[in-house]
Amino acid sequence: MHQLTLAEIARGLADKKFSSEELTKVLLARIAQLDPQLNSFISLTEELALQQAKAADVRRANGESGALLGAPIAHKDLFCTQGIRTSCGSKMLDNFKAPYDATVVAKLAAAGAVTLGKTNMDEFAMGSANESSYYGAVKNPWNLEHVPGGSSGGSAAAVAARLLPAATGTDTGGSIRQPAALTNLTGLKPTYGRVSRWGMIAYASSLDQGGPLARTAEDCAILLQGMAGFDPNDSTSIDEPVPDYSASLGTSLQGLRIGVPKEYFGAGLDPRIAELIHNSVKELEKLGAVVKEISLPNMQHAIPAYYVIAPAEASSNLSRFDGVRFGYRCENPVNLIDLYKRSRGEGFGPEVQRRIMVGAYALSAGYYDAYYLKAQKIRRLIKNDFMAAFNEVDIILGPTTPNPAWKLGAKNSDPVAAYLEDVYTITANLAGLPGLSMPAGFVDGLPVGVQLLAPYFQEGRLLNVAHQYQLNTDWHTRTPTGF
Ligand code: GLN
Repeated sequence: MHQLTLAEIARGLADKKFSSEELTKVLLARIAQLDPQLNSFISLTEELALQQAKAADVRRANGESGALLGAPIAHKDLFCTQGIRTSCGSKMLDNFKAPYDATVVAKLAAAGAVTLGKTNMDEFAMGSANESSYYGAVKNPWNLEHVPGGSSGGSAAAVAARLLPAATGTDTGGSIRQPAALTNLTGLKPTYGRVSRWGMIAYASSLDQGGPLARTAEDCAILLQGMAGFDPNDSTSIDEPVPDYSASLGTSLQGLRIGVPKEYFGAGLDPRIAELIHNSVKELEKLGAVVKEISLPNMQHAIPAYYVIAPAEASSNLSRFDGVRFGYRCENPVNLIDLYKRSRGEGFGPEVQRRIMVGAYALSAGYYDAYYLKAQKIRRLIKNDFMAAFNEVDIILGPTTPNPAWKLGAKNSDPVAAYLEDVYTITANLAGLPGLSMPAGFVDGLPVGVQLLAPYFQEGRLLNVAHQYQLNTDWHTRTPTGF
């Protein structure tokens, strides 16, 4: 039963082949047996899960239907869950029980999804390896000595290991797409404003966006349907109708214009990944797509711009964790300054402290114009590059990451080496565009992802292209040995 996708689960539940309660029990037992190897969960919510599963079974018995009714999922541990620890992977929030549900959590619960638990993540979503969590590193089910990617690494490892069919993640600079690529999943970062950020603990507010991680595009469509929509509680949420994503999956790729940026294939890209990306292009050409080389000339400035803007916003967002209102408080402070200093010094890990320092520096008087303002100007140039490209093509295609999953600890002493792994993903966040990563093959037994980008609100187009590709390839069906 653990091999079933969300779509298959929906059919099985509708046909009464099994109940949500039966399925939930099977998956909880599997998590108990296998997760100690992976460390993909921070908290399990067995009682809540069984209660939600029984309620979903009753709703189905009363004639209700819906693809998420009775479907087991998990939430990245930065979505607030009422009465349940919401740690954000940090000692700072180790004792924090959220007083309300995030909009995404509430919407999925209302659709009948069953929450199995809260997944591990990089501390405050800062990272690309899931090694900065206070709760320890997450392991990649494809090779337990390798990282699963981050920061939604717990969600990715759990879904890839078939502990559950799908999970939520968030993507500020690649944290859905990059772990999806490194664990052989399909992951979608929606258009900025498509999914509510209310109750999603903020890292960099102008970049953060929640989205689905699953094995197939079909399942991402189902989960996104439950997450997307206008929310008056989030002032950057966009009041656009949500299309039927599953209905967009049947479109032919005949005549689809795919742009492949020449800048994507420069130094730093593993040539074996480049070859797999070219193979995926050939596959899409067979399905009728027309391929064209394009240029994104400002891409080289994306990493420096992102690593000014994201830490700047983080330094502001994380100032609320001061040991007074909520979160960790140091023992026996001698005065107020000591309370602030030690609560923050002891509560935040080294990567978070590094980002706060960089961000506070970039925003400080005298440096604001030189760093923050400059980075915002680059951000606009990057967006303009995309707008020009989308005048010529329908989809932009390239690698999701320059390398496959690296060994645990390999980049610990060099933060910049880890930042460089985000080179292909962060531009979509800077521009607010939707992006998807899907499985495209293996290098040394480790998965490789291909990234697709589309114009604003064209999530349906991304999902359809990925679905058509998955109907004709079997990379996404491969299962890691031992799981
Ligand atoms: N790796 C990037 C960072 O550390 C992106 C993280 C994310 O998307 N949350 O900032």
